[in-house]
Amino acid sequence: MEEPPSYERLRSLLEPLLCNMNVEKLIMGWSTKVELYQNVIRLAKRYGVEVYLWLPVLSETGLLKPIGRLIDDEGNEVQTFGLKNGENFEFYCPNQKRNAAGFLDIYDEIFSDIPFDGVFLDKIRYCSFSNGKSGVFSCFCPECQKAYAAAGISQEELLVQMKRVRAGDGDYQGSPLGIKSYQAGKYRFANPIWEEFFAYKQRCVYEFLKPISKTFRDKGLKIGMDTFSPFTAYFAGQDIAALSELADFIKPMMYRLTGAPAGMPWECERLLRETLTKPFPEVLSRIPGMENAGGMPFDLEFVKSEIEQLSAVGVPLYPGIEINRIEPIARTTPEYIRETVNALSQTAIQGFTLSWDLMSAPPDNLEEAARLFGRRE
Ligand SMILES: [Zn+2]
Repeated sequence: MEEPPSYERLRSLLEPLLCNMNVEKLIMGWSTKVELYQNVIRLAKRYGVEVYLWLPVLSETGLLKPIGRLIDDEGNEVQTFGLKNGENFEFYCPNQKRNAAGFLDIYDEIFSDIPFDGVFLDKIRYCSFSNGKSGVFSCFCPECQKAYAAAGISQEELLVQMKRVRAGDGDYQGSPLGIKSYQAGKYRFANPIWEEFFAYKQRCVYEFLKPISKTFRDKGLKIGMDTFSPFTAYFAGQDIAALSELADFIKPMMYRLTGAPAGMPWECERLLRETLTKPFPEVLSRIPGMENAGGMPFDLEFVKSEIEQLSAVGVPLYPGIEINRIEPIARTTPEYIRETVNALSQTAIQGFTLSWDLMSAPPDNLEEAARLFGRRE
């Protein structure tokens, strides 16, 4: 957890935006400084803006509570991916009960007396290929080993296929994990064991979140959820349509030029690099449904199709777009923001989530956002 900014600093950033822009919701977190939240909530209320508490669910809670990490196909703990302080990309197993209990205890002990309108649940997933092959080839902890048997999935067959991918076996060199096609957020593979495996992981994340969602709803809190873009969500255990039953809104992360975890070009490149010995991007162009995936910034038509397939999801969508600028991993410009907003506005979305945070957004990007989302009299 990083040292948070002072309230004065936050107010000086927020007030001009709350005055000039059509802001509906504010997502804030995380810090254990209760007073900071209370002050921001008071400020937001004056503008009729809802405040959501940002909470990491299957990551980062280990800073405060004992947790159970993911175990990979070779029996090792999945390695973390370090990006910056307070965001360690260490992931925990959804099948270990203590990981849900620890998460809810953190909320109860630190945040439950603060009058938030809702909670915004982030890191509701397994690792992606950002954490290497191990990130996706997990989990094989004792609880999960029992769960595969109960779900009728052959753990032996899974381990054989994972070993073959790791060895660069010829059959797997034509496309990542032997993908045959991609449609509506789902892949078909040459070996159907992969479909069983990923569908199973999606059920595990859903089942993990079901009681958590109920706990917050019983407290009268609304729920927002952070997800990957569908083409990556699939590999990390996120069935966005299923998750939407447990949420009031979904924020799919459509980060078209972020060169870090959750960035579309980054996750795409990691998928290729981790599954193929020669990770040529052209491989994707031969997979039906993936022809346009790729590019830096990521192809706009592909991004639009990713959102369009989510339009059947029963809750409002607020795609996350970058307004931050961090050299060299997010080289955003006002032009880039305008292009993305104009294109995605043609899809059935409720609004945008200006990501991934206000603190790292430069003035020229904020001015552009104010122009695009200014209050209409
Ligand atoms: Zn496990």
